[in-house]
Amino acid sequence: MILSDPVPLVPLPWFDGPWQSLATAIRGDRLGHALLMTGPAGIGKRQFADLLAAALLCERPTAAGLPCAQCADCHLLAAGNHPDLTRLVPDAESKSHEIKADAVRELCASQAMTTSRGRRAVFRIAPAEAMNRVAANGLLKTLEEPSASTLMLLVSETPSGLPATVRSRCQRLHLRLPSAAQALPWLRERLPQGLDPERLLAIAHGAPLRALELGSAELLAAREGCLKGLSDVAAGAADPLGVAQAWQSLDPALVLDWLAGWISDALRLAADAQVKHLTNPDHRDRLRGLAARVPPQPGHRYLQQVYAARAEALSTVNKQLLFEALLLRWAALTAGRAQAPNRTTT
Ligand SMILES: [Zn+2]
Repeated sequence: MILSDPVPLVPLPWFDGPWQSLATAIRGDRLGHALLMTGPAGIGKRQFADLLAAALLCERPTAAGLPCAQCADCHLLAAGNHPDLTRLVPDAESKSHEIKADAVRELCASQAMTTSRGRRAVFRIAPAEAMNRVAANGLLKTLEEPSASTLMLLVSETPSGLPATVRSRCQRLHLRLPSAAQALPWLRERLPQGLDPERLLAIAHGAPLRALELGSAELLAAREGCLKGLSDVAAGAADPLGVAQAWQSLDPALVLDWLAGWISDALRLAADAQVKHLTNPDHRDRLRGLAARVPPQPGHRYLQQVYAARAEALSTVNKQLLFEALLLRWAALTAGRAQAPNRTTT
């Protein structure tokens, strides 16, 4: 399938060195017609390939050879729909995760056409090793007879998965894992509060983009766990003190934001079971269960207490006490209804 994601217009901080070499090659007209970018997963190889494409398609690159971010081409790139950049990836629905021969054939046919905006046509295939044998052979012909105005960018973590005939026709650019000193400030800026960048970078074997992904997944799992704890306490199925203990490992501001969102959704649902707008639409069913247990008036008072706790969260020294107090109140609030879980207020 063909991607239409926005194209980044600045290099990741750890690619400054490789970018300078590439910019020098562009200035000296030493860039070939096919480039194979290799390196470990999760360091930003695709972004780097896109940046190169952007620099070549930009009307007025900067002195450093970077895209200007101002011209019409840069606007098209940032919107993800520049007609002279085609990015081929495996079909999202394909079980084999292969790039099939048909897709490569179409790409090569479009390559034969002239560029739309006149400068150059750039084709990116990632991961290149996802091309099956027939697809890779199809590409070979194009690599053997390149057109003057096109650049083929192959991105690969395991170039050994590509036929030697394809590899030998590409210039090679190997991108390395950044140092922790390069990766950590970038990661720290992007991770949600409460997550430890050093630990995540270690789990991701030093690959910053992978660490960021792991961070989001970890946070999602923590959010699920918190909501389950809240539901279990309401159902009388969990001890509030035990749940408070489990929440302690998380950033209180974050937990209280979640809590406020869930309680207000439960109150909305209690007032109107079909309400359209929810802060957490992904948990409508579970929140409907909570709605049945929250009496409206005390529920609104409880929400105010959560907001007040949120305002104090930054200065809170004892998270355990904070969560215990809130969860004991929550248990008391929902206890009256815990015996009648099917009762609805509509
Ligand atoms: Zn530009």
